[in-house]
Amino acid sequence: MNDPAAKSSSDEQLPPDRNWRTAMSRTLQHREELLLALGLMPGHDVVARAFPLRVPRGFVDRMQPGDPDDPLLRQVLTTREESLEVDGYSSDPVGDLDSAIAPGVLKKYAGRALLIVTGACAIHCRYCFRRTYPYAHGSLTNRELANAIDLLAADPTIEEIILSGGDPLTLPNSRLDTLVDKLTQIPHVRRIRIHTRIPVVMPERIDSYLLDIVATSRRPVIFVIHCNHAREINASAASAVGALIDAGATVLNQSVLLRGVNDSADALTDLSECLFDIGVLPYYLHQLDPVIGTAHFAVEDAQAIELVDAISGRLPGYLVPRLVKEIPGRSAKTPLHGTPSKHNNDAA
Ligand SMILES: *Cc1c(COP(=O)(O)O)cnc(C)c1O
Ligand code: SF4
Repeated sequence: MNDPAAKSSSDEQLPPDRNWRTAMSRTLQHREELLLALGLMPGHDVVARAFPLRVPRGFVDRMQPGDPDDPLLRQVLTTREESLEVDGYSSDPVGDLDSAIAPGVLKKYAGRALLIVTGACAIHCRYCFRRTYPYAHGSLTNRELANAIDLLAADPTIEEIILSGGDPLTLPNSRLDTLVDKLTQIPHVRRIRIHTRIPVVMPERIDSYLLDIVATSRRPVIFVIHCNHAREINASAASAVGALIDAGATVLNQSVLLRGVNDSADALTDLSECLFDIGVLPYYLHQLDPVIGTAHFAVEDAQAIELVDAISGRLPGYLVPRLVKEIPGRSAKTPLHGTPSKHNNDAA
């Protein structure tokens, strides 16, 4: 199926991104349809107008039929808990909107700028801190993008540009190609980083054109994928990630610590092991950002630290992700784990 020679055969009349475009148009968008696909009773409907349900069919295939508590299902199923108002949960908990220096450009951390190229995603994760954002739907216009690139080019302190969203891989290849080309022509830009959940949730998106963009980039390309549970990694996700690595990319993972999804030492250990099996190192384990409608996913800081303690006792250091929390106004993500405690002060 992945025979490169097939591309030049006369049967291949559709563009090479045909597969992922089809997958994108076939994402499930109704709660009832999703539950019925898993043999579950739909029950009462929950309508989430601002941030509707969306999940690729290939991701549904990785869920356990008949299990209403499936950790993959829990990440995408709209629930009544989302409409609860809980103290401390707001619509811009990380203060991102304050660090925007132009439409789509956030500069918050030294040396790095975040370019929000699109608000679109292949999957809608219910815990997402971007769920309430004003840019949640469209992409940057060409004019906004050109303006953003000019701004980045004019600031020599920026060494790394992080493409984020939404999911940057929802952009067409031709647009990504031009963008990477322009960004890597800026002399002070040393690295391009792409934050994306797509290699995991819609691996068919990692097509030959995209791999070519990575392989021919003037600067190193780093993918920070987003996987929260070992069961998200199936053979297709593994081969998509393998192809990115073969094209020369560095691939790291970030996860969000989520109640009922990965809040156990076993789940986190399995996740790290399975990531390493496919060539990916765990980077961050994020404490949930307190965005409205997500309180049911929260894990207390003390429990989060205990969990990371537990996995640190089981895994080599390089497989332990950094537990971090986003605190508005800080110049980096704040580590919650690893600061010396009273108990280990005796180590000379
Ligand atoms: C997390 C984040 C980054 C990247 O931070 P790293 O610690 O380098 O991964 C950059 N900009 C913003 C706004 C972020 O939230
Ligand atoms: S893919 Fe990323 S940005 Fe999109 S909804 Fe999920 S967590 Fe949010």
